[in-house]
Amino acid sequence: MLSDPVIAAELRAYIRSNKWAMDPEKLSKFTQDKLVPKAAREYLEHVTQNEMPRGLKRYMEIELFPRIHLRVGRGISLPTAQRWLHKEGFKYTNHKKGLYFDRHDRPDVVEFRQGHFLPAMKAYEARLVRYVVGDVDEELIIPRENYVERRLVLLAQDEMTAQANDITSKMWVFEDQHRLRKKGVGRGLHKSDTLCSTVGWLEDGTQTLEYGKNYEGYWTGELFVKQVNLIDHYMGICSDFCAKIKEKIIPAFERAHGAGYQALIMVDNSQGHSAYSEDALLVSRMNVHPGGKQARMHDGWFIRDGSKIIQPMVYPANHPTHANAAKGIKAVLTERGLYKDRLRGKCKKCTSDSCCGKRILELQPDFQRQKSLVQEVIEAAGHLCILLPKFHCELNFIEFFWGAVKKYLRDNCDYTFDTLKENMPKALASVQLQTIRRWEHRMYQWMDAYRAGMGTTNAQKQVKAFSSTKYKSHRRVPEAVARTFDQ
Ligand SMILES: [Zn+2]
Repeated sequence: MLSDPVIAAELRAYIRSNKWAMDPEKLSKFTQDKLVPKAAREYLEHVTQNEMPRGLKRYMEIELFPRIHLRVGRGISLPTAQRWLHKEGFKYTNHKKGLYFDRHDRPDVVEFRQGHFLPAMKAYEARLVRYVVGDVDEELIIPRENYVERRLVLLAQDEMTAQANDITSKMWVFEDQHRLRKKGVGRGLHKSDTLCSTVGWLEDGTQTLEYGKNYEGYWTGELFVKQVNLIDHYMGICSDFCAKIKEKIIPAFERAHGAGYQALIMVDNSQGHSAYSEDALLVSRMNVHPGGKQARMHDGWFIRDGSKIIQPMVYPANHPTHANAAKGIKAVLTERGLYKDRLRGKCKKCTSDSCCGKRILELQPDFQRQKSLVQEVIEAAGHLCILLPKFHCELNFIEFFWGAVKKYLRDNCDYTFDTLKENMPKALASVQLQTIRRWEHRMYQWMDAYRAGMGTTNAQKQVKAFSSTKYKSHRRVPEAVARTFDQ
């Protein structure tokens, strides 16, 4: 049941609403760091062990289940609620730690990194503009495979927020890296920026959003959210993000690089960035049987006897029994000649490539090639994108940039919003191009270590060794920022 994205999204929305808090005042003191350390530690333990799971249990039994017409015999147990929270990666943590190494080794994440991200990066390597390790002013000479394809420039994009009184307090950290803060954090700036090793910070592509004291809702790192419906919320993030890429980032990149270069945009793998259009080919949105509540998807296709056959996913209006109904998995497979007698509809947990109808259909080429909205937008503009593995901040070298920008802001802070606003452009421009090239090198070091099969700890050691031998003479602030990620 918890693998149902709608239910999971509802539960996450509930948890982030803080409605589970038995003593909202105490929670608020805690988030503002107003408790003495010992009391804070005890409260944290109490919250994670007791209040959150209890609130969640109550919410599921009294609100959620009746609404989705699910009858629960004896309700859910407290340990179940605790387990679920843990499994979902809910965790109270100090954001200063910055990295989410503890979830690096989650099997699905490792699978994506090793099986998808690293091979894809390898395939782009011969086309990517890079700089010589130890001499970042020199471009690395890479023999070209052909002169038809343009050179690629890796583009790191991310967002951050800064407040006039930026106290790095604890906050809830969720699996898709959204940093949540209760309202009332004061006025602040929300920045969206882009970096590459060829020209550095893309000044032209910068975007700033001011937010004030009176915003309702919760900061998710990307938007203030009012609505509880997370599906709409993620679609919102996604369309904002798509617009930003199309209207701001890509034009800025093209102006800075000219026609000879193509951007390879690294997109962080959060739910808001991997949304699909409403009619996308997604088995997860299908029922086994026709009709009912399921997505109406655009046409698919398959190959029969060497020719491509277009297959509608919805029955025609003159169908005798299922007029205008979505076909469902079984009928779609039957039409493709892939349905076998007594084939299971959907497994809870798939065991092979042919264990059930859902699995067979999702491996079909038309379903496999379904692109996310972000990908569609980037490719339509003539550029490329790559999804980063979750929780791997060290692979998105803009994280180091944020670190340096925040340090500049803290060092020049007088706790007023006006000064913050004045300092922001200076902070962004303060990072040297050479430093950005070194951060990109660190990213390549991490990738090499992962390719060699190292786990997080060993990869970390190797990258640390790399930067201390290669960049000994550059122990300046921005490099030190990168180092804090190694600790
Ligand atoms: Zn299966």
